[in-house]
Amino acid sequence: MTFSNLEIIAPILKAIEDQGFKKPTPIQAEAIPTLLEGRDLLGCAQTGTGKTAAFVIPLLQQLYLTRSNRKGKRILKALIISPTRELAIQINDDITDYSKYTGNKSIVIYGGIRQHKQTSALRTGADILVATPGRLLDLIAQGYVHLNKIKYFVLDEADQMLDMGFIHDIKKIITKLPTKRQSLFFSATMPKTIIELSKQILFSPKRVAIEPEKTTAEKISQYLYYVSKSDKVDLLKYLIAKKKNISTLIFSRTKHGADKIVRFLRKSNIKSEAIHGNKSQNSRQKTLQRFKKNKFSILVATDIAARGIDVSKLSLVINYDIPNVPETYIHRIGRTGRAQETGEAITFCSSSEKSFLKNIQKLIKQRIQVILDHPFHNQKNIDRLEIGKEKKNTKKPRFSAPKIKTAKKQGDNLKVESRKRSSKNFNFKRSFKRKKS
Ligand code: ADP
Ligand code: MG
Repeated sequence: MTFSNLEIIAPILKAIEDQGFKKPTPIQAEAIPTLLEGRDLLGCAQTGTGKTAAFVIPLLQQLYLTRSNRKGKRILKALIISPTRELAIQINDDITDYSKYTGNKSIVIYGGIRQHKQTSALRTGADILVATPGRLLDLIAQGYVHLNKIKYFVLDEADQMLDMGFIHDIKKIITKLPTKRQSLFFSATMPKTIIELSKQILFSPKRVAIEPEKTTAEKISQYLYYVSKSDKVDLLKYLIAKKKNISTLIFSRTKHGADKIVRFLRKSNIKSEAIHGNKSQNSRQKTLQRFKKNKFSILVATDIAARGIDVSKLSLVINYDIPNVPETYIHRIGRTGRAQETGEAITFCSSSEKSFLKNIQKLIKQRIQVILDHPFHNQKNIDRLEIGKEKKNTKKPRFSAPKIKTAKKQGDNLKVESRKRSSKNFNFKRSFKRKKS
């Protein structure tokens, strides 16, 4: 499968070539033909699977093929809604890349900065508008944005949108769109609420689902470090020293926590910066650009600030705190292993976080490999029951845990796994049921 098999027109093919893409990703191969037919689409795919190009390419193609020679101000024909400012900017940058030879114009609007530049861009006119919900409604109310000519509507990262409480804003935006339009709906997960919302937006959509097993989990090596809460900083420093200058994204559950990590690292002369909701939009964007340009290699972020961020060649994700929503784990580790790259994700787990870990492993249907060989390993944290139950005839799981482990020398890392866990055919779900009964 190549892009030209998908009947993409020459000016767009050329732009894709400039990006260096050899072949479409699975979601692109499925979504592009459907969208070119004019159908609505409900796309479920993990981050890093190439969703942006999957919707931007057909959108540009249709705009190009239906362009008029009429001179004068451009009228908005496509609207893309994104949950965060960072993602909105990124989508807009991608559109700029793909539309290099089709001559389309797009504008991005988001909150957190003064509106003047955005409103003057709107006054000049554009074909495509990328927006976060709040600022969009604000500028609609002020009369700067008119959606009555929109033909293409894209809702990106819909699950995140709902998590962030944008549901009412979205419903309000939909009422302002013409009913005759093509709508696209993308989400990394498909809980009931998302399906419900999609029904209000889409008309007999084609559903395209790219299984998470085939994407995120497969490409990313995942490791688990049991560590007490008070040792987390030292473990982090230890790992940073060991990994040497590779670009690393560290997740903290709170803004305060993110700042604290940066302070601790700075004390040890480790250059790092944080992005989160308390920082101004400009400072977040600047920090991100400098990180992308390798000006520094350790970025600490909260989930919301990092959502959808695409840093190619991000080698390592560290979950300093375990997310309490299991899906967030997939979003986080999906920041590495983008497109064809492979990646590594390390998760710190303290005793109070074990229940979160359990839910994550259930969701990914996979045990994360435990690394015991590090100076801060906290034996107490190993879920004794979990390991103990895997071995029959175990009277006292407390003492059995170390016995059933086999150590393998792998490079300079001593990776230790339980025998059952290392088996590829180990059926986690079944074992789960068995344990319950
Ligand atoms: P998603 O929206 O699914 O999270 P993105 O659209 O941000 O993913 O794409 C992830 C990364 O993959 C980006 O760096 C993008 O440039 C790259 N990419 C997209 N399509 C392809 C392709 N066909 N071949 C190689 N890389 C691609
Ligand atoms: Mg995306």
